[in-house]
Amino acid sequence: MADKKVCRVVKDDPFVSAQKQLKKAMDVLKMGDDIYEVLKEPKEYFEVSVPVMMDSGKVRVFKGYRVHHNNVLGPYKGGIRFHPDVNISEVKALASWMTWKCSLVGIPYGGAKGGVICNPKDMSERELERLARGYIRGLRDFVGPDRDIPAPDVYTNPQIMAWMMDEFSRITGKNTPGVITGKPVEIFGSEGRNEATGMGLVYVTREVLGYLKMDPKETTAVIQGYGNLGHVVAERYAEMGIKVIGVSDSKGGVYKEDGLDPREVLAHKEKNGSVVGMKGTKKISNEQLLEIKCDILAPCALENVITGDNAKKIRARIVIEGANGPTTPEADEILQKKKILVVPDILANAGGVTVSYFEWVQNRMNYYWSKEEVNEKLDAIMTRAFQRTAETMERHEVDMRTAAYILAVKRVSEAMKLRGYCHG
Ligand code: NAP
Repeated sequence: MADKKVCRVVKDDPFVSAQKQLKKAMDVLKMGDDIYEVLKEPKEYFEVSVPVMMDSGKVRVFKGYRVHHNNVLGPYKGGIRFHPDVNISEVKALASWMTWKCSLVGIPYGGAKGGVICNPKDMSERELERLARGYIRGLRDFVGPDRDIPAPDVYTNPQIMAWMMDEFSRITGKNTPGVITGKPVEIFGSEGRNEATGMGLVYVTREVLGYLKMDPKETTAVIQGYGNLGHVVAERYAEMGIKVIGVSDSKGGVYKEDGLDPREVLAHKEKNGSVVGMKGTKKISNEQLLEIKCDILAPCALENVITGDNAKKIRARIVIEGANGPTTPEADEILQKKKILVVPDILANAGGVTVSYFEWVQNRMNYYWSKEEVNEKLDAIMTRAFQRTAETMERHEVDMRTAAYILAVKRVSEAMKLRGYCHG
């Protein structure tokens, strides 16, 4: 993958970053070490080996993980990533960020995450189906609508969720749509789920711009990653009047000072497999993309892209984290010194899990909402979460990430005290 070295810095272990972020908030709250000791580690995790008959007739065994971080506020919830770089430390970090995200926006879930080491770009649809079904078969005793509810993440999609839901339903002998979210609308998915992470980020952006008294029509944005999240953000930003001047994917980036047309970029990517080569644009690397002077930088790809090595070169006014964990703690400090506002992942990308929650609620009621209803409810939750985070930031005089953690950790730790957290 192009720019891989630039984007993924091995020295910044994402799970260590997640623990540092938690500790920082708990120190502000002067919380004792006992609760930190419990919350810094996942409650349990599983490794599965998934044998898949490849189209060649040979069997290949894939390694997969599922991490359960905390379930004090409700069943475990979190996406499944299919990516060659998946590793247990990454999945643990992603699971703990899910705990804080669900708590911050006030939905009744704990945090989990899953991943399979594979490259879906090199696999046929049949092979992917066998892998998806095999992975959920391996985890059948650890997932379920009241236990752990997976969802899509990087390089997984509604079709993969459909296979997993179907497999789980076959194993249990019961149609069980609520075991997984992010399903196609035709089979118990929710209207608005596909765009939900992007829509949530856009509602937060509207609030941030209002808070900073910035006019969207005078605002420029750069977006890293043009997948499910990145392309929705680009399109909605353009609709708000925000000028999107740079975007990228795993093959590199493109820049246009006058602003790109995000729909044209998507059409180009669908036809050619990358945003690179888009007519009228300048080709740039992912490293250069991050350093473009702009108002909003929205990393919407993978973790560890803004690090101690490049944070000094970031020239955005605001970083809105669409991806999970794109900024390392070392980079956070540098950005804070540069007075760049970082809107943290657990707030900015919480729209996805929020509409996943709506999907699960609709599955349980067997009664389905319109897209307008979904977006209205999502807007209310994201706006409230932003406002509470901004108030907490001012009250405690901390950065926005720490403020978001303060709110999230308080809710989880109060629930732990009420339930009794020392009994496993
Ligand atoms: P996705 O649809 O699979 O898209 C990922 C995008 O990142 C693709 O455009 C991909 O490029 C690009 N990318 C991959 N490696 C890259 C690299 N090394 N440098 C630059 N770009 C790279 O995934 P997604 O659902 O949009 O997720 C993106 C981020 O949002 C992840 O951090 C995920 O955890 C987070 N998130 C997702 C959801 C959700 O509901 N999906 C919810 C909350 C948070 P190619 O197109 O070239 O492959």
